Amino acid sequence: MKFFTEKDTLQKYLATIKLANKTIGFVPTMGALHKGHLSLIEKAKEKNDVVVVSIFVNPTQFDNVEDLKKYPKTLKNDTKLLESVSCDVLFHPSVAEIYDTNIISKKFNFDGLEHQMEGKFREGHFDGVGTIVKTLFEIVKPDKAYFGQKDFQQLQIIKKMVKKNQIPVKIKGCPIFREKDGLAMSSRNVRLTEEHRKIAPFIFKTLKKVRKKFGTKSASEINEWVQNQFKKQPLLELEYFTIAEEKTLETAETKESNKNYRAFIAVFAGKIRLIDNIRLRN
Ligand code: AMP
Repeated sequence: MKFFTEKDTLQKYLATIKLANKTIGFVPTMGALHKGHLSLIEKAKEKNDVVVVSIFVNPTQFDNVEDLKKYPKTLKNDTKLLESVSCDVLFHPSVAEIYDTNIISKKFNFDGLEHQMEGKFREGHFDGVGTIVKTLFEIVKPDKAYFGQKDFQQLQIIKKMVKKNQIPVKIKGCPIFREKDGLAMSSRNVRLTEEHRKIAPFIFKTLKKVRKKFGTKSASEINEWVQNQFKKQPLLELEYFTIAEEKTLETAETKESNKNYRAFIAVFAGKIRLIDNIRLRN
């Protein structure tokens, strides 16, 4: 696996790949890799000649200083995992390499997608995401880029950014990878205390029940039920639960047969914030 920390040397190398008419698949990450990340890389390997993974903990997308400071960094293990799935290129730039001395986001308009859910609770988060993903796309110039449905709002926002800015890349959404007990894999899971880790699968269990209820109950009835479930669970603090339409991410008031819906949830397990979502059938 080739390893780059500077965008110039990475770009010189990738220019030789393009010249040879090879396709580039790109998987942007913040590192502390797990099987969810590896599933994206495996998808990218299937459809591209060369796979580039970036590891960059992007400071401008964090709204919480402690979360940024404590974000797990496991480069040695990440490198091993990447080699185990035959990743071709790892790009691991410093903050200065990406931002120079001006560590701020650009402002984006994602046609309202940014004001829903995560946007209500993490100020400036999606401007940070837009800034880093656009910058990385400009450096790597991939043919295809792979993102997890775990961060479904982010996936929709990136699709919107690519469309609005006419960036020549195909965005591929990939399924959520879970632990055996149903907890969605996340780099932050290693920061859970033992008791919070034990109770965390409750989140997905609740989402599965929501999927069942969606056949017969209204969104507001389900919402009330979820709020009550979490009131009985002192170790987990519900931040939001929403049933939203997949394209606009607007909260569903009624169910329309020609639309797809998803349930989205954010929960604090102690100090660790966990998000998850599930597709609902009408
Ligand atoms: P992160 O390193 O958390 O920024 O995630 C990098 C990419 O991996 C994003 O596109 C995430 O949506 C995706 N990802 C994270 N966790 C999972 C998971 N459990 N299953 C599938 N994709 C994931």
